[in-house]
Amino acid sequence: MMQLMASPVGWLIKPSDMNSLNRGIGMTSQRTRDRLVARLRTEGIHNEAVLDVIRNTPRHLFVDEALASRAYEDTALPIGYNQTISQPYVVAAMTDLIISNHPKKVLEIGTGSGYQAAVLAPLVEKVYTVERIEPLAKQARQRFRKLGLRNVRASYSDGTEGLPDFAPYDAIITTAASEQIPQALLDQLSERGGRLVIPLGGSNLQRLTLVTRRGNNYEQESLDPVVFVPLLSGQV
Ligand code: SAH
Repeated sequence: MMQLMASPVGWLIKPSDMNSLNRGIGMTSQRTRDRLVARLRTEGIHNEAVLDVIRNTPRHLFVDEALASRAYEDTALPIGYNQTISQPYVVAAMTDLIISNHPKKVLEIGTGSGYQAAVLAPLVEKVYTVERIEPLAKQARQRFRKLGLRNVRASYSDGTEGLPDFAPYDAIITTAASEQIPQALLDQLSERGGRLVIPLGGSNLQRLTLVTRRGNNYEQESLDPVVFVPLLSGQV
């Protein structure tokens, strides 16, 4: 059985399990993954806990088999239904932004492949993730099960409403772009330094934005330019 560790520097799954998952897949070997981590380092990711999780997360299991050989390139890839798995650099940067605050309970809007949630899982106590496209939500749930990620709870629902049942969250990561921050996400953020990371802007270019809540005061910081698929309302 694969083992999940709570420690921020822990393995996502045991090395022996990694080997069995990777057997015979040269392109998805540990060496390929080490190269990705080296590249993220040169691109400015210095958080060792985040880099360790990326080193140990089998991204090739989050894309279609036909794309597995490209899984450790630092690029977004299609996952069907007009959606993409985020670029590893962006996953690392967004994770880095919320992890420094040691969040316990994290909400992700836009499960997609499940990769971002899987990267968060070993770093926090509980990950809630929501997806509006049912087949994607189902596939992601199967991946979490296969990887033994028992602290990830995946819901098929509209993330513009947040996930009120388990609020407040120490951090919320939105992996789809919006012109405006949905009010529900602001409401469901912890009043004690809760952090929201969201790409804000139109369809071609957005700015990664960090919102920090203290009481009813929301501080907003504009960061790197990014490109994400749009945050849409309703379920399909
Ligand atoms: N975090 C994902 C990347 C997802 S791409 C990964 O690691 O693979 C963005 C995802 O957000 C898409 O799957 C899209 O369907 C989803 N999405 C868009 N609007 C949404 C909404 N209102 N609620 C939930 N999910 C949404």
